[in-house]
Amino acid sequence: MTPDHVNTVIVGGGQAGLAMSAHLSEQGIDHLVIERDRIAERWRTARWDSLVANGPAWHDRFPMLEFEDCDGDGFPTRDSVVRYFETVAERIDAPVRCGVEVKRAARLPSGRGFRIETSDGVVTADHVVAATGPFQTPVIPPVVPDGVINQIHSCHYRNPEQLEEGGVLVVGAGSSGSQIADELLRSGRDVWLSVGPHDRPPRSYRGKDFVWWLGVLGKWQMKTPPAGREHVTIAVSGAYGGKTVDFRRFADRGMTLLGMTQGFEDGVISVAGDLAQNVAEGDANHLGLLAEADAYVEANGLDLPLEEEAKIIGPDPDCIVNPVRRLDLAEAGITNIIWATGYRQTFDWLEADVFDGDGKPLHDRGVAAEQGVYFLGLPWLSMRGSSFIWGVWEDARYLASHIAGASAPARDSA
Ligand SMILES: Cc1cc2nc3c(=O)[nH]c(=O)nc-3n(C[C@H](O)[C@H](O)[C@H](O)COP(=O)(O)OP(=O)(O)OC[C@H]3O[C@@H](n4cnc5c(N)ncnc54)[C@H](O)[C@@H]3O)c2cc1C
Repeated sequence: MTPDHVNTVIVGGGQAGLAMSAHLSEQGIDHLVIERDRIAERWRTARWDSLVANGPAWHDRFPMLEFEDCDGDGFPTRDSVVRYFETVAERIDAPVRCGVEVKRAARLPSGRGFRIETSDGVVTADHVVAATGPFQTPVIPPVVPDGVINQIHSCHYRNPEQLEEGGVLVVGAGSSGSQIADELLRSGRDVWLSVGPHDRPPRSYRGKDFVWWLGVLGKWQMKTPPAGREHVTIAVSGAYGGKTVDFRRFADRGMTLLGMTQGFEDGVISVAGDLAQNVAEGDANHLGLLAEADAYVEANGLDLPLEEEAKIIGPDPDCIVNPVRRLDLAEAGITNIIWATGYRQTFDWLEADVFDGDGKPLHDRGVAAEQGVYFLGLPWLSMRGSSFIWGVWEDARYLASHIAGASAPARDSA
């Protein structure tokens, strides 16, 4: 690997790695981006075929570049997002080494800087930025034993044709689970959707997309999740032109909603009795945002069209009134389970005293407890927006200025 030494090694060539590279270049700091696969690999191979961005193109982007192949109010396709980041890499002339995996990063015996061992040799650096993603290792809860049924994680879902013939149980009703369940229903499958606690913002309200509302209401900039809502997922979708996720409407179209998936015995899934509560709390979240938006319009004297119909919550469908608590897979004709149950992070390549007892990174706005180590792109790194395309840009700017500050004496004396 060339060169032998750089100021900063960035591990990961997704949007976080590229944002970091852009800001380091602006600061005149030499660096390398080391990516084990290709630029934006997770957008290429850990997303389903029909996926579009959850936010409109005017919002889910870096300030330096607009989407060239998508209208600002449209939702870029997966391939468009990949092209976007390839273009970013070209425009900033990012020093990316693709196909090189970082195996180990450990402090040099001198105590200053790091030795980074890769699949293509060793490089040393004064600083290491872990930009390996907010969603790294898929998590499937150990409920249904292997071999019982075709079961995959949402990151391995591509399209309805890939599944076994028959019905599908989708577990998890965040953005991934609700979008996949909707696609399967549209394809003619029988679908069961296991719904946990969730937020359910309107796609748009009074003529403005919800990402705009989150911005003006200060919610993107929130530093920590509201108390008690740390594990609450968000159900939002840009698919089919962008529609509000409405579980009642899913049920009206034939989907069976379930509470949380709890256990499995003798071919039968046991289901918690929390469906009505989860849906009601999602509705309350939805209505709460509309009320805050109305108050904002009023306080700022804005002229935005009224949209009273957004406040109508339909009647509870039968699957909420008479919830299924016991789901016999064979009896129901279910031959597939898709676990849209999230991810965990792994940093086993990073040997540094920067993790708590559960392996969670210890940092302040991405600056780790140990000098020279940085994290970027993690959920809530500095704010709610940190793991999103536009948010990582802001965090990378901060880390680059921190690295520039830490590098100043060395550069001045050089
Ligand atoms: C289904 C889904 C849809 C999403 N939709 C949106 C959206 O519409 N808008 C939005 O703003 N956000 C969205 N996100 C959130 C977020 O933007 C993505 O997760 C994005 O991929 C995060 O970018 P990243 O660069 O932080 O991490 P990643 O894209 O995960 O990139 C990390 C890179 O690090 C590499 N890597 C890991 N370990 C090593 C190693 N040891 N050595 C070398 N390389 C390594 C990986 O190969 C990978 O390419 C979505 C997330 C998911 C899961």
